[in-house]
Amino acid sequence: MNSQLTAYVSLVCTSGVLHLYLCLYAYAKRHHYTNIARFFILYVASITIYCFASAFGLMATTLDQLKFWTTLQYAGMPFGPPLGLLFVMQYLGLKVTKRRVIALLMIPIVSLVMVATNDLHHLHYRVFEVDPRLGAPYVHQEIGIWYMIHGVFTFACMFIAFLLVVSRWKETAKVYRPQMVSLMCGQLVPMVTAFIYLIGWTPPGFDPVPSVLWLSSLLYLWSINSSRLFSIMPIAKDVIFNSINDGVVVLDESARLIEFNQASKGMFPALNKSMLGMDFEKVWHRLSGGAHPSILDVTRELELAVDDAKKIYQIRTSSFQHGNNKGRLIIFTDITELKRLQVKLEHQAYYDELTQIFNRRAFFEKCEQEYAAAKRAATPFTIVLMDIDYFKKVNDTYGHYVGDQLLIHAAKVCQAQMKEGMLFARYGGEEFVLAWRGSTLAEGEAFANQLRETIEFRPLLTEEGPISLTFSCGVAAAAKDTEETLNQLLNKADKALYSAKHAGRNQVQAYKADKQFTTVQ
Ligand code: GH3
Ligand code: MG
Ligand code: MG
Repeated sequence: MNSQLTAYVSLVCTSGVLHLYLCLYAYAKRHHYTNIARFFILYVASITIYCFASAFGLMATTLDQLKFWTTLQYAGMPFGPPLGLLFVMQYLGLKVTKRRVIALLMIPIVSLVMVATNDLHHLHYRVFEVDPRLGAPYVHQEIGIWYMIHGVFTFACMFIAFLLVVSRWKETAKVYRPQMVSLMCGQLVPMVTAFIYLIGWTPPGFDPVPSVLWLSSLLYLWSINSSRLFSIMPIAKDVIFNSINDGVVVLDESARLIEFNQASKGMFPALNKSMLGMDFEKVWHRLSGGAHPSILDVTRELELAVDDAKKIYQIRTSSFQHGNNKGRLIIFTDITELKRLQVKLEHQAYYDELTQIFNRRAFFEKCEQEYAAAKRAATPFTIVLMDIDYFKKVNDTYGHYVGDQLLIHAAKVCQAQMKEGMLFARYGGEEFVLAWRGSTLAEGEAFANQLRETIEFRPLLTEEGPISLTFSCGVAAAAKDTEETLNQLLNKADKALYSAKHAGRNQVQAYKADKQFTTVQ
């Protein structure tokens, strides 16, 4: 064996050994990345077969031996490019269906059969003989029609795989680019070498491709070490990930952004592929416009103004571990509409639709709290019940619409007079209620009178002229150390109110224990 051949066999063997190592490595770690490992293992296994068969072929001394090792080469070589393509497709998250796998493996199977049976039809090699000038293991071959088909198919697979990787280059973060380089070179190295071989720039008599494949295997090893090829999830987003309505952001264990879905892009338009690999705190600072310096500071809900639209997001975070991969998911759910509805419902539950002041339910709920607080603080508590005089007449004279306007007007005028801490509500129909703590009965009576006078001289201005209204008020106060319930107090205010009605309306009556209250018939 001459020295050139020895060097060549050594290179081919190195390629074979490195690919075998890659194959075993991926096999040993296959459980951590089941989705991409299968095709990668098959891919490097096919190249391993190709390299070793090629190396043994270079030691052949007879035509039969050459034929045998060539057939064995074809048990690996034609399968490499389609398996490489399938691996790249799966790595990039493209759909790999059974049908596609079968379709891609059809030609390699036929090629293997063609080579094994070439003596019968000579469709793969028209001529396959020991080189008459150089002798074994150099081969003189003339290619047949199937060799052409096989060649075009092989080139196409490598070229498509290469283009697929290139198309994802821009959107891939720098940290993951070693993986892309390995994937591209895995296709480019054999493609360029085979091309040079076909145009006759390499020494004649043998296939130079296996002698350069060690380069691509080294690149794979480099990317496994430098950016942990396989130990992170494939770069591409799969269909499910993108069809989720919630924004999902994936961080690796060092809190770097490694993935985000379409919905999160919609929520944060500033989010883009160039941010992949960046520390997420930094990314977050940009996305939130500095409003929330740290995502860790955000609890369950977050209000953000994105593109001038105020949005409310619910945030959930969860850790994940998949094999050796650890990381964190941040899930953003847009609850703006839900919140708006909640606020609306809450408003409807507590506010009177017509006058937009507290309704009866809100009054009782809040008044119970206030009254309890007054008892705890040992301060007096005052309640005023107010009823519009002869309101029925307003309805009868001017109609219900004007009656409504008068109620709104009365509520507005009263509300403008309220002091801090006063609870003012529509008690029902044309009755209002007012409660607060800290005033004596006399002070409560004085305030109610002031209110009554104010409303008396503030008529509602309508198209049909000004309509004035008056109130009758009943005031009751609970002493600071009383055991009285709210209902008992309201009852007293009610009695006082009826007394005011009975006494001629447009006046205030205070409930006093020694006074006889009559019920208006
Ligand atoms: P009094 O001085 O004795 O209080 O006489 P009044 O007419 O005000 O009392 P009454 O209780 O007989 O009538 C209350 C009227 O208020 C009856 C009802 O039709 C009217 N009313 C209750 N709620 C509304 C409302 O939301 N809008 C309008 N327009 N009228 C209402
Ligand atoms: Mg009434
Ligand atoms: Mg009334």
